Amino acid sequence: MNIDITNPIFHDAAKAEAHIEETRWGGEPVCPHCGSDNVHRMKGKTQAGMFLCNDCRDKFTVRTGTVMERSHVPLNKWLLATHIMAASKKGMSAAQMGRMIGVSYKTAWFLCHRIREAMDGANGDGPIGGAGQIVEADETYVGGKAKNRAWGPVPKKQIVVSLVERGGASRSFHVANVHANTLRGVLVQNVDRASSLMTDEHKGYISVGKEFTSHHAVNHRAAIYAEGMFHSNSAENFFSIFKRGVVGTYHHLSEAHLHRYLAEFDLRASTRDMSDAERAGEIIKGGFGRRLTYRRTNRLAA
Ligand SMILES: [Zn+2]
Repeated sequence: MNIDITNPIFHDAAKAEAHIEETRWGGEPVCPHCGSDNVHRMKGKTQAGMFLCNDCRDKFTVRTGTVMERSHVPLNKWLLATHIMAASKKGMSAAQMGRMIGVSYKTAWFLCHRIREAMDGANGDGPIGGAGQIVEADETYVGGKAKNRAWGPVPKKQIVVSLVERGGASRSFHVANVHANTLRGVLVQNVDRASSLMTDEHKGYISVGKEFTSHHAVNHRAAIYAEGMFHSNSAENFFSIFKRGVVGTYHHLSEAHLHRYLAEFDLRASTRDMSDAERAGEIIKGGFGRRLTYRRTNRLAA
């Protein structure tokens, strides 16, 4: 990990707050309620970090309207946890995160999920690919192994479809099935139709493939296709890293949260050419304008 953990932003909440304010507003704070820049910093110890909007008269802090809102974790620990997530290629369990930053398991669990939400925000939502770009689509099955289960029934396997722009962004989706309609929905919503598509020989890709500039169905088992441009090695490589993370770090993932773990691995894959510090900066920015409340988390967990 190329994180300088001696940096004061990881130890001093006020320095962390100043750092996040600078990242969010660049010295010109804006009211998250009404968008006005006619705001001022409130004075007094009890109002540390608080701004007042002179237009709508609402108060706010740098946490307002972000994944950090309603979290009681000090901002220096937020920054440290974000940098650790940015730098951990195979992920980080909530138990280990809790020990590393000195919070309870439960606090670390929510914190990690909020950071994953920010990672999802940082990964963008416009279409990937484009003219002259190759996008690989592949599907895999996650979980459902009896040996990962201490007791109870073996959980059913979950299906994941990944779209990887060669040399570029990665987007992965937890899907109910691999019917043509499902695959089409994922592809047309997330891949620019000017792209060249590489998939496996699954029948579900045949029809939607015609909507793209070109479509090559690659036979995974035929070595001949592994050479040259006709392969889906980028998507397979993503799955391989994700599965090592699932097995090694997370052991088993709950079905309700699988999409967030995918967002975590997608963001690291999409930003693989960045330094860990740059990636952490993107994650912080990705959390602005996004929120993950306890209520929503509990609903998803149910
Ligand atoms: Zn306002």
